[in-house]
Amino acid sequence: MKIAILPGDGIGTEIVGEAQKLLALLREQGVAVETEIAPIGGAGYDAARHPLPDATLALARAADAVLLGAVGGPRYDTLPRELRPEQGILGIRKALSLFANLRPALLYPELAAASTLKPEVVAGLDIVIVRELTGDIYFGEPRGRRKTAAGDDEGFDTMRYSVPEIERIARVGFETARKRARRLTSVDKANVLDTSILWREVVTRLAAQYPDVTLSHMYVDNAAMQLVRNPRGFDTIVTGNLFGDILSDEASMLAGSIGMLPSASLDANGKGLYEPIHGSAPDIAGKNVANPLATILSVAMMFRHTFARPDVAERIEAAVRGALRQGLRTADIAQPGEAVVGTRAMGDAVVAALRAQ
Ligand code: NAD
Repeated sequence: MKIAILPGDGIGTEIVGEAQKLLALLREQGVAVETEIAPIGGAGYDAARHPLPDATLALARAADAVLLGAVGGPRYDTLPRELRPEQGILGIRKALSLFANLRPALLYPELAAASTLKPEVVAGLDIVIVRELTGDIYFGEPRGRRKTAAGDDEGFDTMRYSVPEIERIARVGFETARKRARRLTSVDKANVLDTSILWREVVTRLAAQYPDVTLSHMYVDNAAMQLVRNPRGFDTIVTGNLFGDILSDEASMLAGSIGMLPSASLDANGKGLYEPIHGSAPDIAGKNVANPLATILSVAMMFRHTFARPDVAERIEAAVRGALRQGLRTADIAQPGEAVVGTRAMGDAVVAALRAQ
């Protein structure tokens, strides 16, 4: 199990450092992981004048999985677009053909009060959003700016999905639902968009191959509403790039802090890039206050989805729950009056809980 570790910028190095402690313990316990570190984002620019240095990409290609911290920082904001840190992430997603983005929104009972919704609405929340990552209006051509017949400036983009693209992401949706409560909601805008009408047809056709999964369809505007009205009504959601971008951010807020939420981006063979959903948080970088749990939970996802070791994934998740149950809280998840611990203390508590199992 070869893991390329790309800490990136800002809090990236701190949170990935805690995940590395956990991997070191797993290795000690006989789990055969090998890790190697390389720079990406602003750190890549500093090291090799490029946000995705050739050596970093080579390491990521050779690895079975990639663990990424976060990229970006004010120091790099003035660089030309092609050298900006986020190009490192976009570049690696493209180079590794990572087309399926999995984002769980899970609310730990200990953190029910951290959500902006009432505890009785969100308690027990457990959703996975499967978002298509390489197509849709973000990549469709033609796009650009032009003049209308009346001589006005206009901007335009193209929403498009081909049948094979819809099929492969729908399969990830069905397979994901199969490992969970077997309910899949496909989200589209088939009342307005031709792309969505095709999407719905293809997903419906595929459902015949997954008789054990209950499929339903929902318009994206309704899905946005239901996510805050009755989020527990969802199990697994599959959707395109644009709708998934928006809905997954909305769902993440239900779970309280973005410091708790991991993600996976997978290729067709299960190779994946795992990262917390948050950014490099320059405002708290280097202060030992960042929450490392989203990154640690990303490692759990790695064992579940790439290494087919759900046993290890469950041990890591249980260790995180153990640390929360002991009352440990980083600043982002603490309620007023609760004692706060730093990044390293939280990481140490998870490692100790894992050791104690
Ligand atoms: P951000 O996610 O970095 O931070 C948003 C807020 O959440 C900040 O107040 C931050 O302190 C807090 N926060 C984030 N992660 C936290 C954690 N683990 N623990 C506690 N608090 C946490 O988003 P932003 O401020 O909009 O962007 C900052 C930089 O990150 C920018 O350069 C942006 O481009 C980059 N970014 C990178 C990624 C990525 O690497 N995937 C994603 C989003 C933003």
